[in-house]
Amino acid sequence: MSEDCIFCKIVAGELPSKQFHQDDLVTAFQDISEQAPLHVLIVPNQHFKDVGEMGDAQAEILGRIAQVAGQLATQEGVASNGWRLVTNVGRDGGQEVFHTHFHLLGGRPLGPLLAR
Ligand code: 5GP
Ligand code: ZN
Repeated sequence: MSEDCIFCKIVAGELPSKQFHQDDLVTAFQDISEQAPLHVLIVPNQHFKDVGEMGDAQAEILGRIAQVAGQLATQEGVASNGWRLVTNVGRDGGQEVFHTHFHLLGGRPLGPLLAR
């Protein structure tokens, strides 16, 4: 747990969120400012500032994130039309919250990845 990290607090249940999933490694909850009909953030329960800080020792966590993304896409009804899983790192990546998180997006055509 990192002091003053909003996602650590959401994982711990100290800040409210609409939770989609929680297990021993990861938590998934709705983005507060959704960019698509389905916009879920999937985060490791443990604090890492970004995915670049995660290595071999975190392989199970990263695998779980991908697995949970697929399960939630199916559960939320976007699996057949498709979805996107993306993580931002650092300033140029547009990262705003420095606790690793993957955006699961779906429910509308998402367009080219690099379109602004
Ligand atoms: P980033 O730009 O770092 O990749 O994404 C951060 C995301 O966190 C943004 O999409 C933003 O809407 C979301 N966010 C920021 N604060 C909160 C919060 O307190 N609760 C939830 N559920 N999402 C948040
Ligand atoms: Zn954190």
